[in-house]
Amino acid sequence: MKYLTSVSLDSSGYILLPKEIIKTCRIYSREVEWLYSEYGIYMNTVVKKPTTGLIRKIISRGKVNIPAPYRRELRWQSYMSLEIFQIAEGYFYFQAAHCHCIFCCNSYVDDLIAIQGKYICKNCLQEAIGKHYMLAANNKF
Ligand SMILES: [Zn+2]
Repeated sequence: MKYLTSVSLDSSGYILLPKEIIKTCRIYSREVEWLYSEYGIYMNTVVKKPTTGLIRKIISRGKVNIPAPYRRELRWQSYMSLEIFQIAEGYFYFQAAHCHCIFCCNSYVDDLIAIQGKYICKNCLQEAIGKHYMLAANNKF
């Protein structure tokens, strides 16, 4: 994944697509397809129907809505900042900006696990599980 830029959600869940993305949208489609994942949302600008995600039209100057059900599920709120990554030609990934492990601040995307809108990295999770089992073992008589 290649980091592109950050954008900001407005009060109604719209974002302004950066120029480099609008360029690919002009080539392929006036709509984008949003696909939900546990950590963020994928945006596909090469829309082939039938689709599995939710389709939204690009309105004036690259303005597009991120579907409300996905925003709700990920706890994305008005005015928060989103990081955009390019995965392939016409295919992008959006995640909450500054997403990092709440314990060690690791921000490597592939290491993070989302739990109730917060993130924990695999190492810290492993440590927490280890301590949990140590406690469980010590409590045995
Ligand atoms: Zn961590």
